[in-house]
Amino acid sequence: MNPLERALRDRIQAEGPISVEAYMEACNAYYYATRDPLGVSGDFTTAPEVSQMFGEMVGAALADCWKRAGSPNDAIYAELGPGRGTLAADALRLLRAAGFGGEVHFVETSPVLREAQAKLLPEAHWHESVEDLPARPLLLVANEFLDALPIRQHADGTERRVKIAAGGLAFDRDGTIVETSPARFDAVTAIATCLAAKGGAAIIIDYGYERTAPGDTLQAVRGHGYAPVLANPGEQDLTAHVDFEAVAAAAREAGAAVTPLVAQGEWLIRLGIEARAQALSRANPERADEIQTALARLTAPGEMGTLFKVIGLHSPEWPAPAGLE
Ligand code: SAH
Repeated sequence: MNPLERALRDRIQAEGPISVEAYMEACNAYYYATRDPLGVSGDFTTAPEVSQMFGEMVGAALADCWKRAGSPNDAIYAELGPGRGTLAADALRLLRAAGFGGEVHFVETSPVLREAQAKLLPEAHWHESVEDLPARPLLLVANEFLDALPIRQHADGTERRVKIAAGGLAFDRDGTIVETSPARFDAVTAIATCLAAKGGAAIIIDYGYERTAPGDTLQAVRGHGYAPVLANPGEQDLTAHVDFEAVAAAAREAGAAVTPLVAQGEWLIRLGIEARAQALSRANPERADEIQTALARLTAPGEMGTLFKVIGLHSPEWPAPAGLE
């Protein structure tokens, strides 16, 4: 039993069952603080780790947006949960080539991942929460960030909790599950408030659904496979699908404009990822197969192409990011 499971059991024994929200928050804080979970030897692989093309498309979309907004020189590149910093490094290559000279700001709580990010982007500034980002025009990206923030579950109208049972931890009730996420609401509200006040655009990529609907989407991933959600607390990645209708509503309420939701594959193709793959293959013929495989992984419907979705938030005074308008 790891120290987290010990602490959770002590807490439940002392205070009674804890909410799914408190459980997920405690597990993910421990999980990300104690490891780099990305890549073949870790638990899961994200789009920027599949290919440099992903970050390049994000960078191209943000650079285009920034130029069309008049290239404001006080704009910053901001990323939420930047993982190893791979996406930021690939996107910033494009942004710098387009003349963007702004600062780099990361929202990251994990000391292990901050260290990895500092190796690639030593000039970055780190923050604990989205509310701490400076009030400046934002070129913001969040890939697989909102899915890691804690959700609340209600089962037939009553908040669902985690209790101690014979074999380990168990849910205190079942029923029709409705999920909400105050943590996501707060993050989206903070981004949208800054966009409305200072300008900028945000690209949010995650797996999720377009319309609010009941359903239990809490899942655990370990070693590239699904695992029981209450097993091994803090040793597996806990995520829940993002309710993009709730994201859009929170953003609008805070004064940002919101684009339609687009499937990741379609968005990348609209931005020209196929031409980029061809150019990369011509320049590196020995890697042509690998580049083709990565392209399919990012865009094919059976892979990340339709499971993952993209939404843009922007200042009403800024254009919508390309591929999402
Ligand atoms: N965006 C990266 C990593 C995704 S994993 C990629 O695509 O590869 C989730 C990231 O969010 C990690 O960097 C993790 O440390 C960070 N994270 C998780 N919960 C967080 C929180 N509450 N506040 C800030 N960062 C968090």
